[in-house]
Amino acid sequence: MTILGTGSSGNCLYLETGKARLLIDAGFSARQIRQRMASIGRDPDGLDAIVVTHEHSDHAGGIRVLTSKTETPVYCNRFTKEALDYQTRKPLNYRVFETGGAFDVGDVTIQSFSVPHDASDPVGFIVYTPDGNLGYITDLGCATRLVLERLRAANVLIVETNHDTGMLQRDLRRPWSLKQRIMSRHGHLSNDAAAGILEQVMSDELRQVFLGHLSKDCNRPELALETVGEQLRRMGAEHVKLDVSTQVSVSETLNFSVEPNSIA
Ligand SMILES: [Zn+2]
Ligand SMILES: [Zn+2]
Repeated sequence: MTILGTGSSGNCLYLETGKARLLIDAGFSARQIRQRMASIGRDPDGLDAIVVTHEHSDHAGGIRVLTSKTETPVYCNRFTKEALDYQTRKPLNYRVFETGGAFDVGDVTIQSFSVPHDASDPVGFIVYTPDGNLGYITDLGCATRLVLERLRAANVLIVETNHDTGMLQRDLRRPWSLKQRIMSRHGHLSNDAAAGILEQVMSDELRQVFLGHLSKDCNRPELALETVGEQLRRMGAEHVKLDVSTQVSVSETLNFSVEPNSIA
């Protein structure tokens, strides 16, 4: 797994197993995604699927151009498809899944679940691979009981730490109405909220957490790491490796079949 980038202006994750190569979200330009994949020796033309959480441009903005020649299957639910149809004005090679349902891509099973966020029908995923389970939640205002239940199966978890609440409140560029939206139950998770989720989904099987979708203005990687790291220490969760991913650079590739603490 490689996080090609994550943040308020673009999200894209590459996952490869023995029998599947897929992207979760494609929210950078097609050109950026191609360049970022090239940096790990991969090519979007070889993809089996693009799996989409919701239609916001920082998750879906690159899909139309990226699939224009290859017609890579685009997996999303019905309302997200309708929103994408409206945005792209071009029929894509859709594979529509039911929200809450599961589907297979090669040797991978992807279970979707509803998350509260201000989009048509936003979802998170838990991806079951032969070597371990990946939980993926970005863009949610809060974690429902269903979200927590699903994430307990994760060995690797990508969770949004969008903002530091104090920095968001002090920010001068955003009008109050937008701050309200971000902080609402259908907005985005703060560093503290993400820490609270980890407290509830912790298990012996969880090995690695990546913090993502950081706001450029209202968060800093050090702050997110400090807040969530403090929570992990309080819980004695020393077996969990913690990292932060940003939108400027491609993360290190994580091999699920290798123990995280044995990676330098
Ligand atoms: Zn987003
Ligand atoms: Zn969104």
